[in-house]
Amino acid sequence: MFEIRKFLLLSLFLCSQVYANCEQPKSYGLLNETTLIDDLATLSSAKMSGRKTGSIGSVNARNFLQARFKKIGVANFPQRAEYIQTFPFPNNSANNQGFNIVGWLKGNTFADQFIVVTAHYDHLGAKGRHVYYGADDNASGVATLLAIAGKISELGLAHSVIFLATDAEEQGLYGAKAFIKNLPISKNNIKLNINLDMLCEGGRKNRLYATFTRADQQLANIVKNVADIAGLCFINGHRKNQRFDRFERKINWRKSSEHAAFAKAGIPYLFVGGGVHKRYHTPKDNFENIDKEFYVSAAETAWLLLQAADAYQVLN
Ligand SMILES: [Zn+2]
Repeated sequence: MFEIRKFLLLSLFLCSQVYANCEQPKSYGLLNETTLIDDLATLSSAKMSGRKTGSIGSVNARNFLQARFKKIGVANFPQRAEYIQTFPFPNNSANNQGFNIVGWLKGNTFADQFIVVTAHYDHLGAKGRHVYYGADDNASGVATLLAIAGKISELGLAHSVIFLATDAEEQGLYGAKAFIKNLPISKNNIKLNINLDMLCEGGRKNRLYATFTRADQQLANIVKNVADIAGLCFINGHRKNQRFDRFERKINWRKSSEHAAFAKAGIPYLFVGGGVHKRYHTPKDNFENIDKEFYVSAAETAWLLLQAADAYQVLN
């Protein structure tokens, strides 16, 4: 009896130690929270109507992102007018064109070495009366990208950073593929891709996950160091074999979002996301349903990761 009790007490103690930050996410005020939430609300509003590639909602999202980039002071690549990279992609609609939004901020020390922060802004649009607002997927990643850009414009980083909000991800990562195919800088100068996709929900276990280039010790160290200080439960590795629908289809996290296009090009990546949940790809993935505390903490974790990566003098 005593032994059992002792064991129980010990395991309770260990649980509270290991998972102290898994219960209640907290934030440190590292990012501008008001702007972060406002941007998320705007991107997932009725005006954006689910941001489907080629739709009016997508045009509205694009205009909004261009204005935000401009206000933050993100620089435009000379070969891109007003941050826009257009690309063709196979689609049944009349407009077979996608629009990436891309710009950059110059680093203070390693100006010719780039970290690319990506987040797709497209989603599923509307089907009949149902609007798929895509607050978590992926207004959350895009608003975080904007918040990080805002912070870098204030503080600066050692490396240069490219901000890439991609289009046509939901149809097959077309935006990221188009960016890789027609890079504004030399591929050798891209040191890392940090991809943000779905940061609002930690699921039943209240966790944020990182997946990164296999056997990359530098990235493993970055994730570990940030996991130690993050305001939420930040875990190395997405849940294996997570089912995402009633047909029990499973997700391959290494191929599930923009980072896959970078990986294919031989560029190291670090993918951050909370994973699928019951509102995933439903009209209920809306602003009202997001977990704001988790989200703010997840956005801060993304910012901590970028800073940790930037602190390495030689990335990979
Ligand atoms: Zn997504």
